[in-house]
Amino acid sequence: MNPHIRSTGDPCVVVGAGPVGLIAALGLARRGLPTLVLESEPLQRIRPGSRAIALAWPTLRRFESVLPGLGRAIAADGIGVTGYDAYYEGRRIFHYRSGSGVLGRVARADRLVTSLPQRVTERHLYEACVRAGVEFHWESGVSGLESHPDGVRVALRSGGVLDADYVIGADGARSVVRKAIGATMIGHTDDTPFIIVDVEELPDGSTSNTPGHFHYRHPELNGRNVMHMPFRGGMRIDLQCLPGDDAEQLATRDGIRDWTAPIVSPWYADHITWVSTYRFHQVVADTYTDPHRRVLLAGEAAHLFAPWGGRGLNSGALDATDAAKAIAAAVHSADRAEAHRVITRCAADRRAWGLHNRDVSSRALRIMRATDPAVRRRRTLAARLAPVCPPAGAWLANGPIQLTPPRLGSTDLY
Ligand SMILES: Cc1cc2nc3c(=O)[nH]c(=O)nc-3n(C[C@H](O)[C@H](O)[C@H](O)COP(=O)(O)OP(=O)(O)OC[C@H]3O[C@@H](n4cnc5c(N)ncnc54)[C@H](O)[C@@H]3O)c2cc1C
Repeated sequence: MNPHIRSTGDPCVVVGAGPVGLIAALGLARRGLPTLVLESEPLQRIRPGSRAIALAWPTLRRFESVLPGLGRAIAADGIGVTGYDAYYEGRRIFHYRSGSGVLGRVARADRLVTSLPQRVTERHLYEACVRAGVEFHWESGVSGLESHPDGVRVALRSGGVLDADYVIGADGARSVVRKAIGATMIGHTDDTPFIIVDVEELPDGSTSNTPGHFHYRHPELNGRNVMHMPFRGGMRIDLQCLPGDDAEQLATRDGIRDWTAPIVSPWYADHITWVSTYRFHQVVADTYTDPHRRVLLAGEAAHLFAPWGGRGLNSGALDATDAAKAIAAAVHSADRAEAHRVITRCAADRRAWGLHNRDVSSRALRIMRATDPAVRRRRTLAARLAPVCPPAGAWLANGPIQLTPPRLGSTDLY
């Protein structure tokens, strides 16, 4: 692109056209702010893998509040996951179908989550942005930025610069914006490798009707944990490796064929669409804003969590919409002090949610790994009690998904 982007006045700039950047840009544009997105990759890039498949009702409601009809359109392109079963050593310890019990009250809907590949959600968000007049600059990576009391000077990898009124940094895990404002990720990396395998939908279409299910200590997998979660067009299988496992070998075609054979139809092994091996970071930025309150971080630029509990995109979408709202309030505020306060409040509030989400997904990992003898004992006891004491089964089943009730004073979950 031209190294000198011209805009009328100073626009609000969103760095990154991932799902979080897109919903942030839409939120700004829908509030009447001139909005420009800088994305390092080309428009026709391929976004691999299912990734954030599980969209929860607060996320869809947020999409709907930004643009009426958007949440419904995305939900219509997903499948409603209406059930969830949990097993311990091959024995079913929990069975749930939507609308009932504790999970029903927390999910507050006829479906636990809407499940679809992340790229489909991104397509909806991108098209909505274009309709709302967001200006996109593809292949326009940001190399740094400097904020000052009146705005932000954004430096492009091409050598150009761009002045912005406010910036939302939604440039993902290796965020340049985060580094530029001097923020640091705090937390740890979990040492358990996971293998994530996406497979196609069975030709008879029955994959989508399968409830999500989680197996603790699967007897056919030498006691490894495994989760299956359907999404529109396929299913995701997440295998938790054991200490000493050769994750790279388990992630080869032959490795996957061997370990999936006893647990799913052999058809799936010939219809793998994506394989990935992960160790999850559990980190949150020490600040979500800059000293001049002209920059806000959102999504994976601000936090990284294991996907257990669906905290990634669901919380990123809330960061983004809150950031857009705060920036609109700051732009329209009576004086600079008030603008400063609005951005400070937004950054602090979203960071508190980031810490909460990090703790919740860390709890999921603790229960799933059970390296702590106390957790191991509690898991074994819950599994034994489950047939006669349903809350014990529900506690164990909730371990990996961590559907937590809204916090006091808030209707949000993330
Ligand atoms: C295997 C896996 C499973 C997951 N499962 C779930 C799930 O079930 N539920 C859930 O909620 N989340 C899940 N997540 C997390 C989810 O995918 C992320 O939260 C989501 O992609 C984050 O979106 P983002 O927009 O913050 O970052 P990204 O999607 O990483 O987007 C960042 C964008 O910024 C661009 N960019 C980077 N640097 C620059 C730069 N310097 N200048 C300009 N542009 C730049 C990138 O090209 C990219 O387009 C999963 C993630 C993985 C990897």
